[in-house]
Amino acid sequence: MKTTEYSVTEINQVIEAMSRLYDIVRLVDAEECRTIMVDEHGNLHYGSECFNVWSADQRCANCSSFQACRTNTSRDKVELFQGKRYQIQSIPISLRLLNATLWSCVMELIKIEEASVPLGNEHDDTVTVDYEYLIDHDELTRLYNMHALNKSIRATIMDHPDTDYLLVCGDISNFKLVNTLFGREKGNEILLGIADVLRQSCTEREVYGRIRGDQFLMLIPKECYHEVDFERGIQQIRGMIQSSRFTLRMHLGVYEITDRNMSIPVMIDRAVIARRTLHETSEHSIAYYTEEMLARQIQEQKVVSEFESALGTQQLRIFLQPQVDIYGHPEGAEALVRWILPNGKMAMPVEFIEVLERSDLICKLDQAVWEMTVMQLAKWKGTPFERLHLSVNVSPKDFYYIDVPNVLDSLCHRYAVSTKKLRVELTETVLADKRCDPVHIVERLQHLGFYVEIDDFGKGFSSLSLLKDIKADTLKVDMEFIRETKNMERSKIILRAIAGMARELGMQTVVEGVETQEQVDWLSSCGYAVFQGFYFSRPIDVEQFETKYKEIW
Ligand code: C2E
Ligand code: MG
Ligand code: MG
Repeated sequence: MKTTEYSVTEINQVIEAMSRLYDIVRLVDAEECRTIMVDEHGNLHYGSECFNVWSADQRCANCSSFQACRTNTSRDKVELFQGKRYQIQSIPISLRLLNATLWSCVMELIKIEEASVPLGNEHDDTVTVDYEYLIDHDELTRLYNMHALNKSIRATIMDHPDTDYLLVCGDISNFKLVNTLFGREKGNEILLGIADVLRQSCTEREVYGRIRGDQFLMLIPKECYHEVDFERGIQQIRGMIQSSRFTLRMHLGVYEITDRNMSIPVMIDRAVIARRTLHETSEHSIAYYTEEMLARQIQEQKVVSEFESALGTQQLRIFLQPQVDIYGHPEGAEALVRWILPNGKMAMPVEFIEVLERSDLICKLDQAVWEMTVMQLAKWKGTPFERLHLSVNVSPKDFYYIDVPNVLDSLCHRYAVSTKKLRVELTETVLADKRCDPVHIVERLQHLGFYVEIDDFGKGFSSLSLLKDIKADTLKVDMEFIRETKNMERSKIILRAIAGMARELGMQTVVEGVETQEQVDWLSSCGYAVFQGFYFSRPIDVEQFETKYKEIW
């Protein structure tokens, strides 16, 4: 028997709808006896062993999900466990992953009742009524839900084979924040407002509905699509919140249906993929799907799914790039992460840092890097390398999840390393983010004994205004902004002025990205004394670093 196929977007919506009817709704890998979760990026996560909900000793041969999986047909079963009756429906399904492969598992719908309730469940009627309602409509907005959209879109594109269609998927950027800042009521009001905008602007040639949460979907004939109309709708929605603290941004992803035989959920996933390329700070509100977006998404998914095990198997390591004086003698080094893949290849930060930032894993990576760095400082104790300091990078997102000064301080404490030896690089993104309270953070770090460095100074736009309020210890000046410029003379004037300014502010400097002797000569004539760049050394592994400098003292 053919099982029902769900896409990543669809399965979570189905689980959400079913959760209103059942006490437990979950996916299980019945062969492995493990529960599974699918996150919004399409990654599968294994959870607990599934039998731990009830009797551990009756699993597998007796397990309805195991049988459902083996026979590919739905199975029902009642289990008694700890005075409760578990009514389990096990439905084999197929999950279409983002890379288009099909993956089989079982959806378990479980009702829990007191064992004293007689068999032949008397709540069945009410359940049926609710279920029928939920099958086609979204409870809050009364728009079509995913099931109805699926059917209706399929019917529309098949009934009009000569019409070209676009799928438009939209959601609010950071909708969770709306609920947090303004309350759930306001959140619901906005969802209802979006539903009204859709009702008012759609004709009967279009199909529209709510997929889940703040995600809405629309099928529109290509000839009826005008970007300006959608921009206008976005503006209308933006006006639903008048606040200086928060701007309501709706983002849209558009997918043009080219292959009508493709399953609808997969088409929707493509619109969602386009939508995901837009971020809070994106200048555009509408993105159009391209094949490269899919490739990138699959690559990102790979990074996310392999990250945890890479962390556990020491594939993530620190490389050190020396910070040297004019004679090439090191004063310290920056710890930069590298991912050494099992095939021996090395992945660079640019290939994974942003992805990890987007999926909120960066904090784990950074803490691991900080720990490796502090451990290195501890190992150097009693050796000539003891005189060196090491700098670490901090991602803006770290501040949302952990108390960065506290974590760094605890690490130094645990490995008995002086906080003076660990320098903390903060970028403009951190320092300009008022939510992190940067002035206070810098003060706390310094109070604990850390040197604070402003990384990539000159790369951003608000560098100068930062210096007014933030009393950091070191400016790391980025040479990138003078590279490949036609205005070399002007850039030199700026670099010279930065050196003078740092001196007057009592700050040390490090110039990053130094690539030639000529640059070193000129920079030192401006008063710069510490350099970090390929001219002296690329980032190298710890062993190479130690070999390179062991003779120097
Ligand atoms: P960053 O902190 O500004 O690090 C300096 C980057 O400039 C390094 O790239 C380094 O290899 C590169 N660089 C140094 N000298 C030269 C030069 O002479 N010419 C050129 N063209 N480039 C030079 P890398 O290692 O690829 O790191 C890139 C960025 O990734 C870092 O910029 C930092 O923002 C981020 N990053 C690296 N490791 C970590 C980490 O552990 N955590 C976090 N959150 N971010 C990290
Ligand atoms: Mg850095
Ligand atoms: Mg830098």
